Amino acid sequence: MAEAGKQVTVLERRTRLGGRTRAMRVESVDDVPDNGRHVIASGYMHLFRYLDSIGTRQFVAFPRGGTLRWPDGRKADVRTTGIRAVRTLLGVHPDMSPIDRLRSARATLRLGWQCLRRPEDLADLTTEQWFQRVGMPAAAREALWDWMALSIAAEPVQRGSVVAAQVVKMPKATFSQVLGTHGLRQPQRTSVPTLVPAGDWTATDWSATMESAVQSAARAVDLLLELPSEP
Ligand SMILES: Cc1cc2nc3c(=O)[nH]c(=O)nc-3n(C[C@H](O)[C@H](O)[C@H](O)COP(=O)(O)OP(=O)(O)OC[C@H]3O[C@@H](n4cnc5c(N)ncnc54)[C@H](O)[C@@H]3O)c2cc1C
Repeated sequence: MAEAGKQVTVLERRTRLGGRTRAMRVESVDDVPDNGRHVIASGYMHLFRYLDSIGTRQFVAFPRGGTLRWPDGRKADVRTTGIRAVRTLLGVHPDMSPIDRLRSARATLRLGWQCLRRPEDLADLTTEQWFQRVGMPAAAREALWDWMALSIAAEPVQRGSVVAAQVVKMPKATFSQVLGTHGLRQPQRTSVPTLVPAGDWTATDWSATMESAVQSAARAVDLLLELPSEP
């Protein structure tokens, strides 16, 4: 709204800004850990647009890789960039057979395609049902997909809706987007044109994440800017 030249008034009931994304002192670890922003997905387009607007995007850096370790001591490198990222997507589980890798490649392509062209019933599926539908092999899920889905959706794959996301054991942290909750979310457009709710709990493409909060705000702003200017 401010970028569009509108005057904005912020009313905040707490004595600080930031809502649930804040740093807090934890004496037991002698540190100031971040709360409410542990996972940032590269697909958080609206969040990055917001970070650009406040000049902090350069402080977000994605890891180029890491190491998966199994309890029996085996380990595998995962990479997020370059040709080795493709290998990671095809499956890095030490028990994967060549057939599993082919199945994993086919399932990964299906996942990508269905992200671009969402099936009508996606919100009615658990993440596990979605993985089963695309034929993702168990080893590929164990090595990559299940924990990735858990970190984004903050729900075990058996419970979380595919159209979901996000983290941490804290009362009222975020709502739990299990199956059946997608249609309950309030759209930004209401019967009162000048009243447009925004927040991670409103209807967006994401579950209760920072991206959902910023996407809802972008939609709310678009609706407000459609209104005729006051004389
Ligand atoms: C522990 C934890 C971990 C999380 N981890 C992640 C993560 O890894 N990745 C991720 O993307 N998201 C994460 N989230 C979620 C993310 O923090 C929220 O989705 C995001 O902050 C929601 O933004 P919001 O603006 O919708 O709501 P909030 O951040 O809750 O902001 C709402 C603001 O409105 C104020 N307010 C409420 N009522 C009133 C009133 N009546 N009058 C005036 N002010 C009022 C509140 O004080 C608050 O400041 C986490 C959240 C928690 C709690």
